Amino acid sequence: MPDRPLPGEPANLPPLREVIARHGLGARKALGQHFLLDLNLTRRIARAAPEIDTGTVVEVGPGPGGLTRALLSEGAHHVIAVEKDRRCLEALRELADLYPERLEVVEGDALTLPLAEIGTAPRQIVSNLPYNISTALLIGWLTALASNPAAFSAFTLMFQKEVAQRLTAEPRSRHYGRLTIITQWLCEVRTLFDIPPRAFTPPPKVTSTVVALRPRKAPLAAAELKSLERVTAAAFGQRRKMLRQSLKPLFARCEETLSDAGIDPTARAEALSVEQFCCLARLLSRSEGEAKNPPGA
Ligand code: SAM
Repeated sequence: MPDRPLPGEPANLPPLREVIARHGLGARKALGQHFLLDLNLTRRIARAAPEIDTGTVVEVGPGPGGLTRALLSEGAHHVIAVEKDRRCLEALRELADLYPERLEVVEGDALTLPLAEIGTAPRQIVSNLPYNISTALLIGWLTALASNPAAFSAFTLMFQKEVAQRLTAEPRSRHYGRLTIITQWLCEVRTLFDIPPRAFTPPPKVTSTVVALRPRKAPLAAAELKSLERVTAAAFGQRRKMLRQSLKPLFARCEETLSDAGIDPTARAEALSVEQFCCLARLLSRSEGEAKNPPGA
């Protein structure tokens, strides 16, 4: 790929590799740094993000700014780039100078910053995620969505393929689990495309997958997040066991509760739909509410 300004980029934009060399941005493993320098691929990710010309695009982990450049040249109205690695900040500030009022650089830890409140709505996240914290980040954003469905309008995220398979898994498949349930409860999830290790500097050991998550207007079925987390943790924590066994610690009359809910007590966690897990979460919330405030007390 030619590393020179493309249509939509300022003429004086320095090549990305030069920026990396000038600022000494050798990749650090501890920060999950695998830089994507292929302009075709960064553009492809930026194009997959919907309506970037309005609201705020939060980019987590811009690193030297490859994907950031693509977002800006594809017309992002306002990008807030959150980076933990101080070494990258100067390079990102230089980029911000070339895109006045369109790029804001924030130094910080995406795990602790309240990204659901940053910038103006509609707010979406686009990121080539640091793999070591990708699920922790996603769970944090989903938790924010559970209490405020308008917190985020979209996510366009790159995960390691195995995590992407968990997000999009179907019941009765190997990858179906807790993360599948919580994610699909709140979002429609679609696999977009894979990126091979060789596209990154340095190459990771695994293939990556870009995934589109679109928050639903309302969750797939009523449930409290806490109860849903507890039910899925118990069920998938012992995924080879029958539900009448794995859910015993949560329900006093487990087998009866499952049968009354129309769920086969001898089924295993992987056989249940998201809606069925929501039903169990509601029953758990109710039984615990009753335990605290017994009827007629
Ligand atoms: N966006 C760049 C690209 O596509 O080439 C870099 C992606 S690299 C996989 C992940 C980036 O996330 C790195 O720049 C790393 O420093 C940053 N990062 C790691 N942990 C972070 C955290 N807790 N908060 C914010 N950024 C973080």
